[in-house]
Amino acid sequence: MDFEMEEVNCPICKGSRGEPLYLEGSFQMVRCPSCQFIFLNPRPTSDSLFCFYQQYLPEEESSIESWEKMMKPVFHRAANLLQQYRRGGRLLDVGAGFGFFLVEMKKRGWDITGVEISQKAMDYAKDILGLTFHPGPLEKMSFPDNYFDVVTGFYVIEHLPNPIVFLKECHRILKPGGLLLLRYPHTTPIKNLLNLLGIKNHLYDLPAHLSDFSPRMIQRCLERMGFGKCYHLIGGYTLPRKLGKRVASILFGNISEAFFYLSLKKFLFPGVSKNILAFKKEI
Ligand SMILES: [Zn+2]
Repeated sequence: MDFEMEEVNCPICKGSRGEPLYLEGSFQMVRCPSCQFIFLNPRPTSDSLFCFYQQYLPEEESSIESWEKMMKPVFHRAANLLQQYRRGGRLLDVGAGFGFFLVEMKKRGWDITGVEISQKAMDYAKDILGLTFHPGPLEKMSFPDNYFDVVTGFYVIEHLPNPIVFLKECHRILKPGGLLLLRYPHTTPIKNLLNLLGIKNHLYDLPAHLSDFSPRMIQRCLERMGFGKCYHLIGGYTLPRKLGKRVASILFGNISEAFFYLSLKKFLFPGVSKNILAFKKEI
């Protein structure tokens, strides 16, 4: 697909257009010299991205089933984690996709809401799972202030043109003491390693991913938005359909969990996906 592209300033500090870091095909990741944020520049315009996401998720039943199997362990762990803090309440999943996480939470008695931009995914959720989602993006939904007990976003923040606006909106709609759970990839450490070894790859998944957050960067942004306590976790691993990817995911998922717990929850293995749980401050 052809993209209409635009040059942007750093989405976090607005201070710079960034310095070239890696090329994947015709797409370029850059690093902001002021705040070190890594982002795609130039990047597709919002309209281009909206069209792209109408095609992004798979359509065939077998691919959707594989998607469900891939995400199931992560959703299961996230559901158990949230229930350590809350037994129920209002939960919003942003980028709800086909709705598999929300089905799980509905079964557990939560009052669920989903926001999604892919029409295909919304149709599936409605026709097959009986769930009706709001057509995103989140910022246009105008949910009331202090409304949700929990907001979740699985592999969403790296797709957003303005992650700061998104985090601000999550903060606004959460109740005081409410929880935000985000799962995100952290690709740059693996990219650096493969680059050292001279192995070509397209790990950044451009132009779908517009940025690559490090744990430190995401935590700094959340604290800036007014979130109080923030905890990082590995949060399990996905089970991709392709054998090679699945083996790598299980292997690195288990190694990173082992390091995390052996270090008394301090060491976050570089390069694997992670969860961050942030609490909105009580008034
Ligand atoms: Zn910056």
